[in-house]
Amino acid sequence: MDKKYTTLRLLLGDQLNINHSWFKEKDASVLYVLMEVRTETDYVWHHIQKACAFFAAMEEFATALDRDGHDMHYIKLDNPENLQSFHSNCDALIGKFEIQNFQYQLPDEYRLDIALKDYCNTLHIQNSVVDTEHFYTKREDVAEYFSEKKSILMESFYRHMRVKHNVMMQGPVPLGGQWNFDQENRKKLPKNHKPFPPLLLQNNVTAQFNRIIAAGIKTIGTIDAAYFPWPINREQSLELLEHFVNYCLPLFGTFQDAMHTNEWYLYHSRLSFSLNTKILSTQEVIQSAINAWEQNPDVIAINQVEGFIRQILGWREYMRGIYWMEMPEFETLNFFSHQRDLPDWYWTGNTKMNCLKNVIGQSLNAAYAHHIQRLMITGNFALLAGIAPDQVDFWYLGIYIDAIQWVEITNTRGMSQYADGGIIGSKPYTASANYINKMSNYCEGCSYDKSERSTANACPFNSLYWDFHERHRSKLHEHPRLKMVYVLWDKIPQHEKTAILERADYCLENVNRL
Ligand SMILES: Cc1cc2nc3c(=O)[nH]c(=O)nc-3n(C[C@H](O)[C@H](O)[C@H](O)COP(=O)(O)OP(=O)(O)OC[C@H]3O[C@@H](n4cnc5c(N)ncnc54)[C@H](O)[C@@H]3O)c2cc1C
Ligand code: SF4
Repeated sequence: MDKKYTTLRLLLGDQLNINHSWFKEKDASVLYVLMEVRTETDYVWHHIQKACAFFAAMEEFATALDRDGHDMHYIKLDNPENLQSFHSNCDALIGKFEIQNFQYQLPDEYRLDIALKDYCNTLHIQNSVVDTEHFYTKREDVAEYFSEKKSILMESFYRHMRVKHNVMMQGPVPLGGQWNFDQENRKKLPKNHKPFPPLLLQNNVTAQFNRIIAAGIKTIGTIDAAYFPWPINREQSLELLEHFVNYCLPLFGTFQDAMHTNEWYLYHSRLSFSLNTKILSTQEVIQSAINAWEQNPDVIAINQVEGFIRQILGWREYMRGIYWMEMPEFETLNFFSHQRDLPDWYWTGNTKMNCLKNVIGQSLNAAYAHHIQRLMITGNFALLAGIAPDQVDFWYLGIYIDAIQWVEITNTRGMSQYADGGIIGSKPYTASANYINKMSNYCEGCSYDKSERSTANACPFNSLYWDFHERHRSKLHEHPRLKMVYVLWDKIPQHEKTAILERADYCLENVNRL
C-alpha cells in the first residue's frame, strides 16, 4: 500500500535552493516532486548542455533531499507514468496520494506563473505559494522603487541596494569613496597574457543525454556527455565560486570586456547556472567575493570586487524587477519594427566574419559566452541587421546554459536589441569594427577588412552601423547621446555615404553568405 501524504510540494528545475525554509524540518506528511517534462524541454531549442545540466542538477538535488530525510518523487522524462506537463503529473499525484494541500514556490518565469495560477484555480484542495528565498528583492520592489522617479536607471537602484543591504559601505559612504570604478576596468587582453586555467568539472551526464536523445527532443550545440564541465550540485558550485574568488576575481574588472579567440571565459565566474538554478544564493556569492577582497586587499583591488558585485546586486536584481514590472507586454515590444530573419549561420557559426564565427562557435561548443560577446558581437550584429526580436530571443533563450526568460529577455530584447525603446538601456548598444578590434583579437584573423566600410571586403559591421543609424534617424537623431553620431555621419561626403549604404544593402541581401 502506498504511503499517504497530505501535502504535495512542487519544485521547478530552477528552484534548487537547499537552504529554503521548506527543508528546515522533516515532515513525513509532505511529498516533494521534481519532474522532467516535455512542456519544459520543447518551448525553445535548448542547447544540449543546458538540457543535460538542468536534468542532472535536478537529480542531484533530489538525491540531496532524499539524503536529508525528505520524501521525494522524481519523474524522469522516460517514466511511462510521466504525463509530460506539471499540471497533469500533479493531478495524478494528488489523486494517487489523496493529497489535501498543494504548494509551490513563486516561478521566475511569467509563463509558469500564469500556468500555475491557472492550475490552482482548477484545484478543489487547499493550495498556496511561497517565495523562493533567493533574491534580495521581491518581484515588485524595483517597480515600487522607481514609482516616483523620473527615470529607471540601474545605477540609482544599485546605489540604493548597496545602502539598503550595507554592501561595501561605511555608513552612507561607499567604500573606496566611489560607487563605480569602471574607468579602471575594461582593458583589452595584452598579447601573451594567459588567464588562469578554467575549472572544468568532469561530470558524467550520459544518462540524461541518452534520455533526451531517445525522446527525440530538438536541441542545439555539442556536448561531451562523459566529461561535462559545468557544476551540477552544491559542492561543485561552491568549488567554482572558490576558484573564481581566488583566481579570477583579481582581474575580473580589468578584463571584463575583453574578448579573445583562444580564451572563452577569461576572468568571468561562470556562476550564472548555479545562481539561476538557486543552487547558490546571491548573498553567499557576494559575501564570498567581499571576504576574498578583505583577506587579500593586495591581490584583489576594489575595482575588481565592486565590478563583480554590481553585476549581481545591481544588474541581476534590476533585470528581474523590470521583468515583473513590464511583462507580458515586454515580450511583444519591437521599437524599430525589425522584421528580418535570423541568419542561418547563428545556428552553425559558419560565417566568414571572424568575431561572429568565434562567438557563435564557442556558444555552440560551450553553451557559454560572456556578457560582451553576447552584447557586442551577436547582439550588436542582430540589432544592426534589423533581425526580428522574437527570433533573437528564441536564439538567446536556447543557446546559453543560464538562459531563463526573466534574465534572457530583459538582456536581449531590452539591453541588446533596444526593442523596449529604452526602458533598460539608455541608448542602443551598437558598434562598428573599431570597438570590436579595440576589445579583441578577432579582426586579426578575419577575411574582412576592419578599416574599410564600402569596398567588396569591407567589414559588414562598418556599413551596417551607419545604415542602422540612417534607417532609424527619425527615432534616434534627437537622442542626446547619439547627436554626435549624426554629426559625424552628416560630415561624410555624399558619394561615400551612398557607397556605404549600398554596401550595407548588399550585406543585408546576402546576409547568409557573409
Ligand atoms: C543578449 C544577452 C543575453 C543574456 N542572456 C542571459 C541569460 O539568459 N541568463 C543570464 O543569467 N544572463 C544573461 N545575460 C547576462 C550576462 O551576459 C550573463 O549573466 C553572464 O555572461 C553569465 O556569465 P558569468 O556567470 O561568467 O558572469 P560574470 O561576468 O562572472 O558575472 C557574475 C554574475 O553576474 C550576473 N550578471 C552579470 N551581468 C548580468 C546582466 N546583464 N543581467 C543579469 N545578471 C547579470 C550573473 O548572474 C553572473 O553570473 C545576457 C546578456 C546579454 C547581453
Ligand atoms: S573585421 Fe569586422 S567581421 Fe571581421 S572580426 Fe573584425 S569586426 Fe568582425
